[in-house]
Amino acid sequence: GARIFENVAVTQILVEQGRASGVRTTHGDMRAEFVVNAAGMWAHGLGAAAGTTVPLHAAEHFYIVTEAIPGLPKHLPVLRDGDACSYFKEDAGKLLVGWFEPVAKPWGMMGIPESFSFDQLPDDLEHIEPLLEAAIHRVPALGQAGIQLFFNGPESFTPDDRYLLGETPEVRNLFVAAGFNSIGIQSAGGAGKVLADWIVDGHPPMDLWDVDIRRAMPFQRNRTYLKDRTVEALGLLYAMHWPFRQPETARGVRRSALHDRLKASGACFGEVAGWERPNWYAPKGVAAEYRYSFGRQNWFEHSAAEHRAVRNNVGLFDQSSFGKYTVEGGDAEIVLNRVCANDVSVPVGQIVYTQWLNARGCIEADLTVTREAEERFLVVTAAATQTRDLAWLRRHMPQDARAVAVDVTSAYAVLGIMGPKSRD
Ligand SMILES: Cc1cc2nc3c(=O)[nH]c(=O)nc-3n(C[C@H](O)[C@H](O)[C@H](O)COP(=O)(O)OP(=O)(O)OC[C@H]3O[C@@H](n4cnc5c(N)ncnc54)[C@H](O)[C@@H]3O)c2cc1C
Repeated sequence: GARIFENVAVTQILVEQGRASGVRTTHGDMRAEFVVNAAGMWAHGLGAAAGTTVPLHAAEHFYIVTEAIPGLPKHLPVLRDGDACSYFKEDAGKLLVGWFEPVAKPWGMMGIPESFSFDQLPDDLEHIEPLLEAAIHRVPALGQAGIQLFFNGPESFTPDDRYLLGETPEVRNLFVAAGFNSIGIQSAGGAGKVLADWIVDGHPPMDLWDVDIRRAMPFQRNRTYLKDRTVEALGLLYAMHWPFRQPETARGVRRSALHDRLKASGACFGEVAGWERPNWYAPKGVAAEYRYSFGRQNWFEHSAAEHRAVRNNVGLFDQSSFGKYTVEGGDAEIVLNRVCANDVSVPVGQIVYTQWLNARGCIEADLTVTREAEERFLVVTAAATQTRDLAWLRRHMPQDARAVAVDVTSAYAVLGIMGPKSRD
């Protein structure tokens, strides 16, 4: 029962009372119960206009196609050379060679022209020359073959190289399927299937948190951040996927009030949801830098020393990256007792550890609720689920409830004192 309308531009996603209600197009309005923003590189701008965060940025992607190479076997397997950032595939008697280089060229910083579709960007021979040399080193036959086509086409990349699927936390019934990081063709069948299930059933058919749009943070709408990260994101597709590998671009977006003191104590920072968090501490004379390996990494002993100190004595942890919301109002307790698996009807000053469960009895969130006053509670949750959990809470507040949830994440620090001597 699907109908496809070609050469019709969506100029606006229509939203009524926080819910998608259709699209405005160059051919008039269309009402719809559900809308999917699958606008590729344009999804960022189209989504932003509807008040949603769709963090992706275009980058130039280069490949070449040779002249016909006599004797080139058909059905050669695709070859990937991580060191040379390149892939090689047989293409109708020719070789197609493309790259995911470590320093990429973001494109379309000021927005993607509406007229740009299935189009191509100018060559940049200077940019691909060293890549081509490395490819010839791996496949010497390439050196003898003439080049028929230099191709440069843009594709969108996300800050963590994972795609963006699911219902937006900001607007109900508005779904996203975008940010395919150069694997959109091979991913299309699966992404389409799970998205359809998600829409019909009201929940994803499996654990899709890796690619769930609700992991996006509002700051990630920022174009400068996206551009800076895209320089690195494209190349990370083929770079070594070291355990604990940290991004090197677009860092320092969210810092705790204690950042300078943590740094002075030798912290080596990792990034979660844009926050700089101390992953381990380097003792004096040791550089606070990861040396990646698939074996035991350089931080192991330093982390172990910290672990032992807390296990046997006491340690102070900066946990300011936690997501934090106040829930306030005459019905705050009723609302939270409806959402929480545990009972939050506790005296003022008491903390309740609880899960939030969905209708299938599965865990949606894992957090604490602190009663700060008769009609005010503080919810503290994981940094990575700040957006997701707030959306869940707001969606499960009855519309007529006398309660309001406010995200106060950046207003408060969190310090944890842990270890057997923490009460001393
Ligand atoms: C050079 C190159 C090589 C690639 N090679 C591979 C490969 O080998 N394998 C692979 O899996 N992937 C590959 N990819 C990536 C793949 O092409 C993309 O991931 C995929 O096309 C993304 O699909 P999409 O539907 O999200 O976006 P798109 O294919 O960009 O489609 C989005 C569509 O939305 C339309 N649109 C945008 N805004 C509006 C609007 N307001 N109203 C109406 N329509 C709108 C656009 O016109 C466009 O047609 C390659 C990409 C490039 C550039």
